[in-house]
Amino acid sequence: MRSVTILGSTGSIGQNTIDLIKRAPDDYSVMALTGGRNLTRLAEDAIALRAEVAVTCYPECYEDLAGLLAGTGVRAAAGPEAVAEAAAMPADWTMSAIVGAAGLVPGMEVLRRGGTLALANKETLVTAGRLVMQTARDHGARILPVDSEHSAIFQALVGEDMGAVNRIIVTASGGAFRDWPIEDLANATLAQASSHPNWDMGQRITIDSASMFNKGLELIETREFFEVGPEKIEVIIHPESLIHALVGFDDGALMAHVGPPDMRHAIGYALHWPERRTLPVERLDLAKIGAMTFRAPDPARYPALALARRVMEEGGLMGAVFNAAKERALDRFIEGRIGFTDMAVVVERVMDKMSSSDGLQKATQDLDTVLDTDKLARLRADEAIAQTS
Ligand code: NDP
Repeated sequence: MRSVTILGSTGSIGQNTIDLIKRAPDDYSVMALTGGRNLTRLAEDAIALRAEVAVTCYPECYEDLAGLLAGTGVRAAAGPEAVAEAAAMPADWTMSAIVGAAGLVPGMEVLRRGGTLALANKETLVTAGRLVMQTARDHGARILPVDSEHSAIFQALVGEDMGAVNRIIVTASGGAFRDWPIEDLANATLAQASSHPNWDMGQRITIDSASMFNKGLELIETREFFEVGPEKIEVIIHPESLIHALVGFDDGALMAHVGPPDMRHAIGYALHWPERRTLPVERLDLAKIGAMTFRAPDPARYPALALARRVMEEGGLMGAVFNAAKERALDRFIEGRIGFTDMAVVVERVMDKMSSSDGLQKATQDLDTVLDTDKLARLRADEAIAQTS
């Protein structure tokens, strides 16, 4: 029996992970589940899976969670420190499915104890890729990618020589607005941006898919996890979302990973790795599908892609700046305070300001510096947002 912890268990990835674990209850014991405001779901899952501890990241939610868990044998805890403590518990396998840069510190706890980290939280690698990969190496920890594109690349590379890889192609659905006239994007509403054509995901990543900030994050994640140069990383729009990524080799071969748009494949692959086990995902009927299509992304429609390329080229702490500014701009778009296309304008302004004045490329990447940079970028984003409204 393996012990597992799920960070962000109440979210979309967390619930898909729980779905897989509930299907094989004799194979897993649950150490910790962590969530945020969805206390009912957190408590119900913790009780059903007999978790040792359930943690909400919000201190003010402690009393309510403790009330829901009273008499069940599941311990309640609250606050970001309690989330980090849950991550530090010695689970055999830990899912990192918190949304945003808040996933970085708990993920680092798993790596520092030499654990296995199934990484859905792409922000961990975007904000502090070099530090994260080095910490994993120093402590003999393992990171298994869960983002569908990175799981696909990882699978295409099994048994291959990294030295013979000459391109990695990450596919993108194109998001909610891929066929909209560009001039209409400025007026896109929250409801319109929150509906994905193919994938059922949390609201933030769904909006990031419409703006392609999500793909920008994934380009940086690819660079950091696979340690390949930005010139080898490409994006292609593939509206059907059936090929998740392709890896090209020196001999011209392209290895594509094909599967239904269901995150339980990538989660299950990471859960069972290095084995492959039966997973409850649809088997594709290629004859029924008939055709798969591809097109180049339009830079004018998706300015986030050029900003992500800039992050890869400038390096240093620019990933932390890009992500934090994006998170702040997204918060304000969700609140209705800025428009859809303002998000990229805000991120670019913050990057311009911080790359020229704050010496980010040369700074050492340690956890405190990354967290300080994240904080500063959020302040700079607030200043940029004030200029747009
Ligand atoms: P959701 O918004 O659905 O879930 C996020 C989880 O994090 C919830 O459990 C939420 O709690 C918790 N949470 C929110 N804020 C904090 C915080 N400050 N500290 C600790 N926990 C917090 O997100 P997704 O499941 O969609 O995404 C999770 C991660 O996986 C993201 O990094 C995303 O980019 C990545 N990812 C997601 C995919 C998907 O299909 N959804 C695909 C590939 C990657 P609560 O809801 O209780 O408030």
